[in-house]
Amino acid sequence: MRTRLDHLVTSALQQGSAVPAFTCYDFTTALAVVGAAEESGRGVILLVAPKTAATPNGLRLIAALRGLADAASVPVAVQLDHATDLAVMADAVAAGADSVLADGSSLPYEENIALVVAARELLAANGHPDVVLEAELGGLAGDEDRAFSADQPADQSVVAVAGLTDSAQVEDFVARTGAQLLAVAVGNVHGKYKGEPQLRWDVLQDIAVRTHIPLVLHGASGIPAEELVKAAAMNVGKVNFNTELRTGVLATLQEQLPAHRADGENLQALLGHWNRSAGEFAGATLATLTR
Ligand SMILES: [Zn+2]
Repeated sequence: MRTRLDHLVTSALQQGSAVPAFTCYDFTTALAVVGAAEESGRGVILLVAPKTAATPNGLRLIAALRGLADAASVPVAVQLDHATDLAVMADAVAAGADSVLADGSSLPYEENIALVVAARELLAANGHPDVVLEAELGGLAGDEDRAFSADQPADQSVVAVAGLTDSAQVEDFVARTGAQLLAVAVGNVHGKYKGEPQLRWDVLQDIAVRTHIPLVLHGASGIPAEELVKAAAMNVGKVNFNTELRTGVLATLQEQLPAHRADGENLQALLGHWNRSAGEFAGATLATLTR
């Protein structure tokens, strides 16, 4: 069922849990994620990458995800992830996204605020004043869509931790942006971690006492489950996953591809494995965050 992202997150936090958000580059993954959410009886968030939303087919994917969310038996929200381009935000919302991460975290502080304010004004002017806005404060290292680059192979996939969120800025930032959720940088990174991730719980605690809006942890792939379960106590109500989901699906496809080619080019059965891999990851993540 169509559900406002902030309401979904707030009600999960009231029960002491966080809502997982999964990047969906395609409909097969989205079907698996929503299926896992229905099986667990929990809500879920479908994320669309900005590079996806910037294409005509990506906008059609958003419309399809919207339909999937509307028909689901559990609360589902569709969010445009990490958008910096106002035109992409407007197009994604027109196509059916009900939330946007207006991400000015790589910009200077005042420009970050200005981007979120401009996003709100544009969406309201387009007849969508109720779109839920997430903003991001603090630089998050790594690439959202790629765990590592071709010239920097997996075994050296070193992404340095960028600047932590400055908790002293949080109250001013939230008040001036009017954001309904705040993504933070507390040692989390996009892509693969170098060694064990070291989350800065002290920084997260400092942030949590300075605002009442739910916090968001990006780049959760690789953070141990026993760490993740502590996050909801610090008002982290949304946790984004991408890398681990992709890794699992790609490994499954690589393993299954030869047999399914040999079996009469059996794409249908191969998609079944894709669905199972994504669904198992989503189901395990839902169980972790709500235990
Ligand atoms: Zn992210």
